[in-house]
Amino acid sequence: MSAVYLNVKCAACGLRIRTTTDYYVLKNRVWNKAMTGKATGKNNGLCDGVDGQLHIVCVEKRLGRELRQRDFEPDIPLNLGFMGFDYRKFEP
Ligand SMILES: [Zn+2]
Repeated sequence: MSAVYLNVKCAACGLRIRTTTDYYVLKNRVWNKAMTGKATGKNNGLCDGVDGQLHIVCVEKRLGRELRQRDFEPDIPLNLGFMGFDYRKFEP
C-alpha cells in the first residue's frame, strides 16, 4: 500500500501525518495529556478532546512512555483499519 498523507501537520514536529501509521484516536485523557500536559476530559467521548494531530512517536515523547493498545479508543472505524491504522495490530 502506498503512503497516503493528510494535509495536516503534527503539532509537535510540524511534519505531515500519514494515514496508515499516524491517523488514530486516543482516549481523551491520554490525548489531552499529550496535547496540554493535563489528563483531563471524559474517557468515553470523541468530541471532548483538544483538536490537532500528533505522530505516535511524538505522543510517546511528550508522555515519556510508549503507547499501548488500551490507550486507543477501541470502537471507532478510524482505529479499526478504516484509513489504514489498526490499533489491534499496534505494538509498543
Ligand atoms: Zn510529529
